[in-house]
This record gives sequence, structure tokens and C-alpha cells, in this order.
Amino acid sequence: MYKTDEKYFVFIISLLIIPKTNLALIYYAIGNMVQHKKLTLYLYVRNTIMISEKNIWDALETVMDPEIPTISMVDMGIITGVILASDNSKVFVEMTPTFSGCPAIRQMEQMVHTRLIELGIKEVEVRTTFNKPWNSNLITERGRQHLLKHGLAPPPKHHGEITSELLENIVCPFCGSHNVEMKTPFGATLCRSIHYCNNCLQGFEQFKPVV
Ligand SMILES: [Zn+2]
Repeated sequence: MYKTDEKYFVFIISLLIIPKTNLALIYYAIGNMVQHKKLTLYLYVRNTIMISEKNIWDALETVMDPEIPTISMVDMGIITGVILASDNSKVFVEMTPTFSGCPAIRQMEQMVHTRLIELGIKEVEVRTTFNKPWNSNLITERGRQHLLKHGLAPPPKHHGEITSELLENIVCPFCGSHNVEMKTPFGATLCRSIHYCNNCLQGFEQFKPVV
């Protein structure tokens, strides 16, 4: 009983001697500390337990190719490697753009960097390399479907060399017909050519095969 009385007494005294605004500030500070601790703990748990290389690849699947916004850089085969440090504090990403003169390289590096910082990784290093040049077989099956949806004929799969059959093996992305003819070898960008479909009478672009 004595303890309860004592507590009551301290409470009354504190109400009298501590101005209410101060009390509010104290509550606010305590609340903040609890919130901050919760947030820190949340980020710590998320970063140390939940992030895996698979999460990084999944996140990068939402980073679109600046030139063809319906296909991700992962599906284009531009992201060639992801290495996550054992404590999950740092990630190293390697990428190879479709060609070395690509004007969007810095933009792509920045997009990858921003996306992974958003994911909660403290340090992100993106390195562009052309040691092993990009080739159009690196476009994933899902990527090829996305190109089709965009009205862009995907490049035919090659065997390491450009042959005349390869260049003639063009399918209309709208109707699937092979009855197509090339209008010009250079479309909106160097990597695309323009064709016309004699079956559905529509013009379309093809992503050229690159070996
Ligand atoms: Zn067609």
C-alpha cells in the first residue's frame, strides 16, 4: 500500500513541478526512442536475415531498359552478375550494356544503384564491363515475350554468327507471319531494323541479332 501511495504522491508532485509542455516533450522523446529502436531493429533484421541474392535479382527485374521500357535490364541480359557481401551490407553488380557506345550507360548504373539503396543495402557498387560483349541470345524467354508485346520482333536465336538465314528469319510480332520484308536496316536506334508485314499490312521494328 505504501508503494502505491508513494507513486501517487510522486505523480501529483511531478504534475505540479513539471510544466505540462515539458511532460509532453518527455513523452514525445520516449516515443521517438521506442520508434527509432523499432525501426533500427526492423532494418537490421531485414538486412541481415531477409535479403538474399535472389531478392536483389527480383528487385533488378523492376529496373527497365531505358530504351525499351517494357523489358527489364535483367531480361535484356544486361545484368551479368550480383555478389552480396556475407553481412549483406554491400552488393556488387556487374552489367554489360548491349553495345559499348550506348548513351544510357550512366543512367542505367544510376537506376540500378537507386533501386538497391531503396531495398536497404548500405553500399552498392555497379560496374560496367565489356570484357565479354553482350549478345542477343542473352535476352530471356520472358524478355522476348515482353518485346513482342511492345510490337518489337525479338532477335532470332543465333549460333555465334550472323547468317543470311538468320537475317531473313523474321516473324511479324502482330500476326506471326513470315511473309515480311525489310524496309530499312536501321530503325529508331542502331540495334533495330524496320520491316513490313505483307500479311497483316503493318510495319514493325525488329531487334537485330547481335553475336
Ligand atoms: Zn503481320
